[in-house]
Amino acid sequence: MKRFKPQPGFVVQAFRFALDPNAGQEAALRSHCGAARAAYNWAVGWVTGSWWQRAAEETYGIPQAQLTAWRPWSLPALRKAFNEAKRTDPRFAAWWEDNSKEAYNTGLANASAAFDNYAKSQQGKRRGKRMGAPRFKSKRKARLACRFTTGAIRVEGDGRHVTLPRLGTLRTHEPAVKLLGRVQAGTARVLSATVRHERGRWFVSFQVETAREITKVARPGVAVGIDLGVITLAVMADSTGEIRAVPNPRHLDVVLRQLRHASRTVSRRQGPDRRTGQKPSRRWEKANTARNKVHHRVANLREDALHKLTTAVATEYGTIVVEDLNAAGMLKNRRLARQVADAGFGEIRRQLAYKTRQRHATCLVVADRWFPSSKICSGCGAVRAKLPLHVRIYRCDLCGLVIHRDVNAAHNLAALAAACTTGTGVAGDQDTAPVVSKPRGANRKTRAIRPRRTTGTGRAGGATLPHQRRTETRDRHQDTEALTLW
Ligand SMILES: [Zn+2]
Repeated sequence: MKRFKPQPGFVVQAFRFALDPNAGQEAALRSHCGAARAAYNWAVGWVTGSWWQRAAEETYGIPQAQLTAWRPWSLPALRKAFNEAKRTDPRFAAWWEDNSKEAYNTGLANASAAFDNYAKSQQGKRRGKRMGAPRFKSKRKARLACRFTTGAIRVEGDGRHVTLPRLGTLRTHEPAVKLLGRVQAGTARVLSATVRHERGRWFVSFQVETAREITKVARPGVAVGIDLGVITLAVMADSTGEIRAVPNPRHLDVVLRQLRHASRTVSRRQGPDRRTGQKPSRRWEKANTARNKVHHRVANLREDALHKLTTAVATEYGTIVVEDLNAAGMLKNRRLARQVADAGFGEIRRQLAYKTRQRHATCLVVADRWFPSSKICSGCGAVRAKLPLHVRIYRCDLCGLVIHRDVNAAHNLAALAAACTTGTGVAGDQDTAPVVSKPRGANRKTRAIRPRRTTGTGRAGGATLPHQRRTETRDRHQDTEALTLW
C-alpha cells in the first residue's frame, strides 16, 4: 500500500470524536461494519480458494502449466472481482445496495493489506512477528469498523454534527470545534473518516492533513529521567535535582472485587454455547453488559490518567529519558502481567514518543534495554552486580549513599540525557566501560522462548536429578577500575 505523504510543513493527524447515533443510524453503522467484514471474508475466500484448488490439482497429477491460475490480491483486482460477483453471489445479491461502496472497499483494502503482510513476512521483508495467512473474521469477535475515503465527509458548521456518505448527518457526543476551526481557517483538509465501535460506544476519527503546529516547552534546558514501576507508577528526577513521584492509580485493582461479583452473576445465567447452539438468555445479556461496563470504565480511567501524565511531562521538559522496557516480555510473567498491563508501560512510551515529536526542541532519549539504571549508584557511579526487586533502598558500599531504589534509577536516567547529548548521541550505547556485571541470565539478548523448567524428564514436583542440578552463580565482586562508568 502506498503511504500518503503530506505536503511540506504539514502532518497527518487524527481527530477523534464520540458519536451519539440514533437507533436508525446505529443500525446503519452496524450494517456498514458488517458489510466490511463480509467483503473481507469474501476476499480471503476468493484468493485462498485458488491456493486450495492448485493444491488439489497437483494431487491429481496435472502438470504445472495447466494448473488454475493464482488469483491476485491487489486492491484494484479484488475490487474488480468483487464488483462482478456482488450482483450474482447469493451472499451479497440481496443486500449489497444497502451500504456505501466504501464499506466493501474497507474490507477489500484490509484483505489486500493482510495478504501483502503475509507475503512480505514469508519473504523476510517485514519486521516483527511472523504473520500467518489471512483468516476469516468472526461475526462475534470482529471489531466493528468502516472507513470512508471518498464522498461527503465533513464536520458541520455548528461543530456538533458530522456528515458521512450514506450514513448522513450524525450528532457528535462532544464538540468537534477543534477540527472545525482548522478546516474553516484553511489549515486542515480531511482525508478520510473511520467509524468504529469501541467500549460500548461509536467513534469517528478523521484523518486530517494539517499544518504542523510546534509549541515550546516550559523548561527546555531541563532533562528528566522517568523510572516506571508498579509500586509507584513513575518516579521523575530532573537535572536540577527535583524529585516527583506519580502514584500508581491501579484502576483494575480497585474494581477487582466488583468484577468478580459481576463475573459470578454472568456465569450463573444461561450463556451462549456454540457446541449446542444455545442462545444466551436476556438475563445473561444484561449481566454481561454490566460486566463489560466495569471493564470499559477501567480502560477509560487508565487512558485519561496516562494522557494527563504524558502531556504534563512532554509540555514541561526539554529532554525526557525513559527506559526501553520489555513490556511484552513482562506480560508473559504470570505474576507480573496484570500489574504491568494495568500500569500501561508500553502506552506511556508510545505517547511520549509522539507528544515530544509535536513539540519544539524536545527530545526523547530511550535508554538501552540493558542499561542498569537501578544498579548504578547515582552518587559515585559504582555498579552493583545484583539488586533483587524486593530491595527498595539502594545502599552504596563505596560512597555510603542511601537512596530509594526508584529515585536512584530516575537520577541515573536523567544523567544519561547529559551523557547522550554530549557523547555519541546514541542513547545507552556507551561501550566505554567494559561490562562490569553479568548476573545470571542477564545476557544482552531477549529470550524469545521461555526456557523449559526442569520437568523434561516428567518427574513430579519438578525434582531435579543430580546431573541436572546446577550451582548458583555467586554475586561477583567487581574490579575497582571497572566501577567508573562516567
Ligand atoms: Zn556510591
